[in-house]
Amino acid sequence: MALTIDLTSAESRSALAAKTAKPDKPTLIGLTRDELAVALVESALVPERQARMRAQQLWHWLYVRGVSDFDAMSNISRDLRGALDRHFTVARPQIVEEQISADGTRKWLFRFPPRGAGRPVEVETVYIPEEGRGTLCISSQVGCTLTCSFCHTGTQKLVRNLTAEEILSQLLTARDRLGDFPQRETPMGAIVPAEGRKVSNIVMMGMGEPLYNFDHVKKALLIASDGDGLSLSKRRITLSTSGVVPEIYRTGEEIGVMLAISLHAVRDDLRDMLVPINKKYPLKELLEACRRYPGLSNARRITFEYVMLRDVNDSLADAKELVRLLRGIPAKINLIPFNPWPGSNYQCSDWETIETFADYVNQAGYASPIRTPRGRDILAACGQLKSESERLKKSERLALEAMMIAGHGEA
Ligand code: SAH
Ligand code: SF4
Repeated sequence: MALTIDLTSAESRSALAAKTAKPDKPTLIGLTRDELAVALVESALVPERQARMRAQQLWHWLYVRGVSDFDAMSNISRDLRGALDRHFTVARPQIVEEQISADGTRKWLFRFPPRGAGRPVEVETVYIPEEGRGTLCISSQVGCTLTCSFCHTGTQKLVRNLTAEEILSQLLTARDRLGDFPQRETPMGAIVPAEGRKVSNIVMMGMGEPLYNFDHVKKALLIASDGDGLSLSKRRITLSTSGVVPEIYRTGEEIGVMLAISLHAVRDDLRDMLVPINKKYPLKELLEACRRYPGLSNARRITFEYVMLRDVNDSLADAKELVRLLRGIPAKINLIPFNPWPGSNYQCSDWETIETFADYVNQAGYASPIRTPRGRDILAACGQLKSESERLKKSERLALEAMMIAGHGEA
């Protein structure tokens, strides 16, 4: 049985309302330390000589202690806390809905305020607990400009990029709800890793192409991996891209997190159809960027995602070509059973075909887990816009939301 907490009801909403972002004030979340110091000085609340010290204090409250209210910052004077609260916000986004699956998978629907003339946007974030780790699947854009033919997000227009604050807020709010900050309680009965952090890994595998929102994604991931703050190891952060080659080089140089590539085909003619960005950056260039990704070793491999499409890319010849192409690159291969959606022109490969493919790849020396679907009962469709799905018939919505249910924890 899935448990749903519907936060659209007035009663449950009021409990969270106090913590919900007031869009009229600028946020202090998602700024670098230097930007934080500048914001404090420019607001005239803090003299220049104190700026670095105050920025460091705030950084600790925001990212180590996870507070979302200036009032909790007990080593800052009451007057300054009040002044900060009049100028800025550190509040969380509105949680429209939280769903919890029988297997412990959690899905949140967040609403972020409009930017400029736009409308509010809604984004889903999914938490997948496993033995020894808890993985959060984060979105980077609302919609996507790319048009991969098997992906439902690819049929939606790009609404907008998420800001660094909105990307980080997905992590901060998930950690709030899981009691994953010092001196917080984990909710009774929650399925979380037995030891250590509740959110131990993050994957940029939700909606959108993170490398088309490079600056905000970079900022958010550098804050998430800051050793004096959220302190997630870069080895536990994976960014998935459809193959934006110039930004893969920049990711290696400027962010340094683990990389996952949505490969899905081993020949240019087929990849041009499945992942059309291949026309701009064909396989040879993509694999060259992978080969040159800094810091690769057997312990630090690139993950290649490969969606199993019946009679399209799932033959033994494809498996052989895959192994040949990846020679020399420390790689893991994630085989993803295709999740159909209304109007999609593909089917998932038969189980036997997937196993034959996986066996070949395994024997060639690659770990190639087949992603097991998680959270089916709550339809934890990573990155699937709820507002979009609500316009559909129920049966369509179920199929749609079942898309992209994947055990992202292997990355
Ligand atoms: N835009 C980035 C991040 C999305 S990650 C990227 O493309 O890499 C989500 C993963 O799910 C990608 O590998 C994507 O190709 C895959 N995917 C998309 N639609 C899917 C579907 N219907 N079934 C299975 N996997 C899908
Ligand atoms: Fe965009 Fe990734 Fe979907 Fe392609 S697979 S349309 S890049 S979200």
